[in-house]
Amino acid sequence: MTTLPHILVINCGSSSVKFALLPAASREPVVSGLAECLGLDDARITFKTADGKHTASLNGGKHAEAMAALTGFLAEHDWLGSVAAVGHRIVHGGERFQQSALITPEVIEGIEACCALAPLHNPGHLVGIRAAQQAFPALPQVVVFDTAFHQTLPKSAYLYAIPQRYHRDYGVRRYGMHGTSHRFIAAETIAALGLDPADNGILIAHLGNGASASAISHGRCVDTTMGMTPLEGLVMGTRSGDIDPAAVTYIARREGLDLDGIDTLLNKQSGLLGVSGISSDCRALEEAAEAGHPDARLALDMFAHRLARLLGGLATSLTRLDALVFTGGIGENSSLLREMTLARLSLLGFSVDAAANQLAVRGIGGVISGPGSVAALVMPTNEEWMIARDTAELAGL
Ligand code: ADP
Repeated sequence: MTTLPHILVINCGSSSVKFALLPAASREPVVSGLAECLGLDDARITFKTADGKHTASLNGGKHAEAMAALTGFLAEHDWLGSVAAVGHRIVHGGERFQQSALITPEVIEGIEACCALAPLHNPGHLVGIRAAQQAFPALPQVVVFDTAFHQTLPKSAYLYAIPQRYHRDYGVRRYGMHGTSHRFIAAETIAALGLDPADNGILIAHLGNGASASAISHGRCVDTTMGMTPLEGLVMGTRSGDIDPAAVTYIARREGLDLDGIDTLLNKQSGLLGVSGISSDCRALEEAAEAGHPDARLALDMFAHRLARLLGGLATSLTRLDALVFTGGIGENSSLLREMTLARLSLLGFSVDAAANQLAVRGIGGVISGPGSVAALVMPTNEEWMIARDTAELAGL
């Protein structure tokens, strides 16, 4: 029987539940996995442990069935009794949540109030919270918000230059996303480089299917590229990132697109996929570019150009520049895109060490900048651990 307290981390979407079980104070999960296609015939759950992978059918079940399968698996492996608290990832906390919180009826109301800002995510999170409360009625539960770390942005950075009543009446402003990852990387970088916690400047590029960059000044986030929604900023797998809004209304008029059509175009058919015409996946595009596909090469060039351009802009919010850190699936693995980006940032004092850059892949981090360069690093992110850490702290473990 395992007695060490464990934290169950849950990331619940509308048709999926990602989970991880971490011993308190440990950075590595003992079990992780994913329940997917919930509500469909092929609903299934996959568990990953040190012994390997195991997938079971959920027979068309939804979140409650996924949670039952998870608790069953934990019981079978003697972990259930050790679960001491549950931590939930929440995409949008609006202006209300500046930090993680223990779940209370008021906190649930607050998350419900943010559903309008994240209609694809927050409702799924609420379903996950209810399913976890039923499965673990006696345990403290904590919510950790993707937006919270960016709540320190000054007004000049978070407001859009439209009449302020849209902010006052509807909450239209920059919120930023991936905050848990940016927070983790900022703290780890300060520790790894021995920076003065009260005097530092860090740029972070979190590059996955969704991607965002942020500027950290003295440990606090002062600017970030994602906006009110995850569409703004960098070129992403299927999202356009920045585009002239007047180009959007022009396309809509030319093609008779309605609002849903625009939403689909910019969120699902654009980015690396839209430009290359072949894939949203960076690895597939690197292979295609290598084989001579011109639009795959163009998509990668645009990704690096936009990233360098926005990093340059973010740097203007700093009082000094100590490091640029790459993280996320692309940031942690694409030596090519890192090299292409750093080559565009020589004006900020960056150069690359080609050999070190090649070695920093598949979970191996390290410094990849050349001699005399401002430090450029690769650092694997660990959002689950951040959620587990906040949960343990708020639950008093
Ligand atoms: P998500 O935002 O969905 O969490 P990830 O952080 O897992 O995304 O990143 C997924 C991206 O990472 C994909 O574009 C994938 O191609 C890219 N990626 C993963 N491994 C490599 C690799 N070895 N080389 C280049 N890109 C990679």
